[in-house]
Amino acid sequence: MTEFEPGSVWLVGAGPGDPDLLTRKAERLIQTATLVFYDALVGAGVLDLVPRHIRLVPVGKRSGRHSRDQKTIGKLIVEAARAGDRVVRLKGGDPSIFGRAAEEMEVCRAAGVPVRICPGVTAASAAAAGIGASLTLRGLARRLTFVTAHARAGETLDLNWEKLADPQATLAVYMGKAAAGEVSVGLIAAGLPGDTPVALVENASLATQRLFYTRLDLLPIAARTALGDGPALILVGEAIEVSREFSGTLTTQESIAARGN
Ligand code: SAH
Repeated sequence: MTEFEPGSVWLVGAGPGDPDLLTRKAERLIQTATLVFYDALVGAGVLDLVPRHIRLVPVGKRSGRHSRDQKTIGKLIVEAARAGDRVVRLKGGDPSIFGRAAEEMEVCRAAGVPVRICPGVTAASAAAAGIGASLTLRGLARRLTFVTAHARAGETLDLNWEKLADPQATLAVYMGKAAAGEVSVGLIAAGLPGDTPVALVENASLATQRLFYTRLDLLPIAARTALGDGPALILVGEAIEVSREFSGTLTTQESIAARGN
């Protein structure tokens, strides 16, 4: 049984949205907590698992709309722990992947508050499951790269396209919707073929999940026209193509028609 002492903090991965993808440990922690701070991306079905008597506080950030800045969140967590709460900080996906876990661990440690991580299913894994693909593929996709295409407000996207344009890798782009044009242009300029397979997965693991297949040169149009308001992951690489041909999901899923053939 996981220890959860009063005055301590767990950063808990809530997974991609489907409550069935929550780990048993995460479930136990949110049921033992006295206070839960949660992000905007935490699924409603997961929040339903938090018992009614536990205080549930949104501290969510969606791009462009910061309801609480990182400093304030850190302060709230530390104050709650110092007041003797058992604090769960519930984060979408896995806390250690583009989840600001380091900042929150740092403020806790600086304040002498014990803090631990409970991992979660990350969006790339849920997206791969959604399209019925393997992210790695013997001989074709030997590497898997997680990258965020989110630029700070007012700054341009500063990514090393030469490093990312790897024909032997699957690239999972988080927060890439707004930068889909730059991702496409950057990777093609660095040498990836325009017909490299791409999948867009919106609301992975949820009932509202939508899948789109396209190719790298058509990604900007696809992202603009096909995606809605939900969080979306962009998968790039040859492993995606194999899934498209053999997974059998295509007949039941929408697909961007223009694949150039
Ligand atoms: N820690 C999270 C990622 C946070 S960054 C994780 O491990 O998954 C937020 C980005 O994750 C979103 O912009 C989107 O690109 C991706 N994302 C999160 N949930 C998603 C979902 N259900 N479907 C598709 N993409 C998702």
